[in-house]
Amino acid sequence: MNIDRAGNRHSDLLIVGAGVLGSFYAYHALQRGLRVTLVERSSRPNGATARNFGQVVPSGLDLSWQIHGRESLRIYRELQSQTELSVRQNGSIYIASDEEESTLIEELHQINQHSGYRSELFTAAQCQSKYPNLRSDYCRGGLFFPDEVSVNPRRMIHHLHDHLRRQTHFESRFGTLIQQVTPVSADLIHVETSTGETLTANKVIVCCGSEFQTLFPDHFRQSEMKLCKLQMLRLAAQPQSILPGNILTGLSIRRYESFSECPSWKAIKANESTDSFANQWGLHILFKQELDGSIILGDSHEYTPADQPDRLDFDIRSDVNDAILMEAKRIMDLPSWDVESSWYGIYSQTSRSSGIHLETIVPNVHVTTGIGGKGMTSSAGFTRHHLTELYND
Ligand SMILES: Cc1cc2nc3c(=O)[nH]c(=O)nc-3n(C[C@H](O)[C@H](O)[C@H](O)COP(=O)(O)OP(=O)(O)OC[C@H]3O[C@@H](n4cnc5c(N)ncnc54)[C@H](O)[C@@H]3O)c2cc1C
Repeated sequence: MNIDRAGNRHSDLLIVGAGVLGSFYAYHALQRGLRVTLVERSSRPNGATARNFGQVVPSGLDLSWQIHGRESLRIYRELQSQTELSVRQNGSIYIASDEEESTLIEELHQINQHSGYRSELFTAAQCQSKYPNLRSDYCRGGLFFPDEVSVNPRRMIHHLHDHLRRQTHFESRFGTLIQQVTPVSADLIHVETSTGETLTANKVIVCCGSEFQTLFPDHFRQSEMKLCKLQMLRLAAQPQSILPGNILTGLSIRRYESFSECPSWKAIKANESTDSFANQWGLHILFKQELDGSIILGDSHEYTPADQPDRLDFDIRSDVNDAILMEAKRIMDLPSWDVESSWYGIYSQTSRSSGIHLETIVPNVHVTTGIGGKGMTSSAGFTRHHLTELYND
């Protein structure tokens, strides 16, 4: 960090927002030898990055984003070899519950063979031998991805920040809201903080997640973006470790982008009833067991356009939680279904086919957000790639 002639603290790159996107921009920028400042409104970030499953599942992404997901797997593993980040490699499985879902996992397996992404088709018996709590009347077979990892969402990002703080040329300002970003010249940007300070930088990247009302609100109001609210549950600790890795089930097969590239996708989707409760609330069932034995279970999806954020209220709906539990009980026999806690998270999602909202407000002031439900999976790889574009190399 330098002090400029006016006495302001100056960095090469200032990043607003210390969720997974902002934090991985900071990580890669430091690797490029840049002086980096990371500014975050909360003292401990608690946006989408801390509220999710922690599933790192490139298997669910379309082929263009799978590249970033696979690069993220490499980065997570590399980081974990240097510092404790909570990364565990237990793979991911998609459990098919009927003939249509079985067709989709077989077709995705074929696609993976062409794209060189490792997956293994499991029979129902193989699934049950690996996951004995799986119900035999649900499981028809599975598609297993041995290279995929999970992280503890409530820990990973804080471990990453600790790692960043140990690097030279890094400064963080947490508990600090950025209120204004003003270009002074083409490569000198003034950034006003809620603590009354002016920070300066040659380049600014705003990774504000779902916060559309503080910086550039007009841009977001007029954008193609949506906000999505998801309900989540935590089941009390089970007596043992019974669900290793990321468990995704039939409704996820019917939802994730990777499956939309399968030849039978359109015909299968055309058959689905659109007025079911599950469809109306965007339910699909994912399980992720933590090291303490508790299980993260979810989720639902409720959308609003970017210009009407208040349409997402703050209630946790018990009918939605009940429907999640009911569907989950059709899939697994668990020793305990005690719900320890329930919460919601909100992410922003672009409607663009690019899968992310990238905007240059003025030269050297960039916005990156709207990564949707794939941020934990792909941000580490995407940000590395995007910095090469921003720095023209
Ligand atoms: C319930 C749920 C489950 C999910 N499960 C998964 C999963 O298993 N796998 C997966 O890949 N993805 C998952 N996702 C998606 C993933 O969590 C998001 O894509 C990702 O966290 C988005 O990261 P972000 O950095 O863009 O936003 P955020 O995590 O929201 O971070 C934005 C940060 O910017 C800060 N900020 C905003 N404005 C300012 C300002 N003006 N000044 C200072 N700070 C500011 C905020 O305080 C916040 O900390 C899930 C999401 C949810 C909600």
